Amino acid sequence: MAKQFLVVAEARSGKLRQVSFEALRSAQLSAGDGDTLAAVLLGGAGTKALAAELAAYGADTIYVVEDPQLESYSSEAYLSALLAVTSVAGPHALYFGHTAVGRDLAPLAAASLAAGQISDVTAIEHSGDNVLFTRPLYAGKAVEKKAFTDPASPWVVTIRPNNIAAAEPDASRQAQLIDVAYPTPSLRSIIREVVKKTSGAIDLAEAKIVVSGGRGVRSADGFQPLEELAAVLGGAVGASRGACDAGYCEYAMQIGQTGKVVTPEIYIACGISGAIQHLAGMSSSRVIIAINKDAEAPIFKVADYGIVGDLFEVVPLLTAEFKKLLA
Ligand code: FAD
Repeated sequence: MAKQFLVVAEARSGKLRQVSFEALRSAQLSAGDGDTLAAVLLGGAGTKALAAELAAYGADTIYVVEDPQLESYSSEAYLSALLAVTSVAGPHALYFGHTAVGRDLAPLAAASLAAGQISDVTAIEHSGDNVLFTRPLYAGKAVEKKAFTDPASPWVVTIRPNNIAAAEPDASRQAQLIDVAYPTPSLRSIIREVVKKTSGAIDLAEAKIVVSGGRGVRSADGFQPLEELAAVLGGAVGASRGACDAGYCEYAMQIGQTGKVVTPEIYIACGISGAIQHLAGMSSSRVIIAINKDAEAPIFKVADYGIVGDLFEVVPLLTAEFKKLLA
């Protein structure tokens, strides 16, 4: 019997996040012959306009729940809306981005549906009758491959951004749109206002290039050269917890075990020692460049390229060179 693979799409500031397309591709890679690919859009008025892009990336059916209560993410409202969709759709599997929203909503959905969950997936393959999901363990020091075993229980999967490439979009693809009514649950809390703390145009979790600063930047102003380098490279600026704890930057920028997990093509660590908790958030980056004045700093053990030097001298030099190269 055909099984439905349902991707919970995520939008920010009216734009679908790249990880939603990667989750669609992940669902596609997991599905067997004849299985169907669907997506769900939850949001305020106008959300439906995003459906065409999901269709282009492979969704055959798109469920839409639009309601003012869904304008901003809230666990309760989004879970109620999602469960309204799953009761109509009866999916075999639910795929989320491994983002702040996905990390919150996926386990709530799994618990509500008595489903098993595999989180933070970086690769998918078929082995016999099983679909194997690869995920990092022990702060990236090991990987495991897991499969769902209970045929009666739905799957819940979260996909780490920037690991499974999205399919090529095909703008001519059409999908069936299904409106699902918001169940208007009595909420114990409602979002009155969302105050954005960071103004970075590029999403840290999805950035192709990340320039990160640690305690070595010495002050909030010390991030300035890193911001200039990131701007020239079209990247985002991240930080170690050391820098966040010292008050040099917002916690929203923290990368690591208790911060964001990033897998950019290039990660430039400036004045970061390379504690295991920091490595947990960035060691899967394709290329790691470390700038540290201590040649013994542990960050050099994971770095592909290391520069022993003062970041306040090295970073502006790199910025100037990249400016020339990219001019
Ligand atoms: P430091 O370790 O102080 O390193 C600063 C580095 O800057 C040094 O290597 C120094 O040589 C270099 N330096 C100084 N001046 C310059 C200069 N002018 N030019 C070049 N280099 C310079 N940390 C995280 O990052 N993310 C997490 O998510 C996280 N979660 C944690 C969870 C738990 C439960 C615990 C216990 C800790 C966690 N930590 C986390 C903290 C982690 O253990 C480290 O304390 C932290 O990563 C250190 O930050 P840092 O490298 O910026 O600072």
